Amino acid sequence: MAEVTLSNLSKSYGATRALKDVTMTIPDGAFVVLLGPTGAGKTTTLRLIAGLDRPDAGDVRISGQSVLRDTPAQRDVAMVFQQYSLYPHLSVRDNLAFPLRSPMIAMPEDQIARRVQEVAEVLRIPHKLDNKATALSGGEMQRVSIGRALVRNPRIYLMDEPLSSLDAKLRADLRVELKRIHQDLGATFLYVTHDQIEAMTMATHVGVLDHGRLVQFGTPREIYETPVSAYVASRLGQPHINLLPADAFGAPPPNAAQIGLRPEHIHIGEGVEAAISRIEHLGDQTRLHLTFGPHALVTLTDPHTPLQPGQTVRIRPHNPLWFDAAGNRI
Ligand code: ADP
Repeated sequence: MAEVTLSNLSKSYGATRALKDVTMTIPDGAFVVLLGPTGAGKTTTLRLIAGLDRPDAGDVRISGQSVLRDTPAQRDVAMVFQQYSLYPHLSVRDNLAFPLRSPMIAMPEDQIARRVQEVAEVLRIPHKLDNKATALSGGEMQRVSIGRALVRNPRIYLMDEPLSSLDAKLRADLRVELKRIHQDLGATFLYVTHDQIEAMTMATHVGVLDHGRLVQFGTPREIYETPVSAYVASRLGQPHINLLPADAFGAPPPNAAQIGLRPEHIHIGEGVEAAISRIEHLGDQTRLHLTFGPHALVTLTDPHTPLQPGQTVRIRPHNPLWFDAAGNRI
């Protein structure tokens, strides 16, 4: 396991500047989640670390040593893509064993057999070991892809939305499993996801990318509670943070252009009158959709609420976040 440092990393594809001057340290044993919408530069970051692409400028260091001249194999990283990449003509067992048979690792066959069995059990595919890789469902193929990374003990695991093609139950199980692997092995992870829950539950640190720039790096709690901008604030939280004109509830602080209200920033019971337009019962949370004047917002309420659509409630902000005209937090 190892610390990975990116210094002033930049990469363009033709006229597209995919990554701009990114500096970030992934501490040894950390689980860093990269967040950002499509095109923000997340996959590019992983590819530059893995050695699948070369940066235009900047450096990638693993355990303090620059790896820019090293091949992907020499870098000793394991990468899992969103889309499974298996050897179709091989069995699941041989797909899982493949990385361990590489000349750089060359593990004895009896150890390989044990390791493959262990990983197959973690991923709940031991009964599929003798299947051809093509004789699997999409979810099973993706588990084999993850398994091919897990059989190894690389310096860092790079994962690009590895769970996004799986059904909700398996995703929840593997989330717990990956976190357990992280804790048990002390492994270092850099993990790309769009999934809030994955980010909040697995990450020790979150890096937020905006058009190729790293705009904030911190613990999930820091990113959630003290975002540097409305953009960062919008990356985490379900329901999404409500962004309204700063004067929606009365006089704002100087320079405020927007007020940001997460569900816990909305006090119900006094303040302005808002109409309930919709109530969504999601099981683990109940969402209250409100309108007042031209504004709409979403907050949470008690699952056993007696409130009904068409009724009104009074609301007021409680410790909201304020943003200036450029979207930066005040
Ligand atoms: P993300 O993973 O956050 O969706 P990417 O790192 O894949 O973002 O892409 C960042 C930007 O670089 C995007 O604008 C994307 O279109 C562009 N890009 C990535 N790879 C290539 C490539 N091989 N050729 C051309 N443009 C690319």
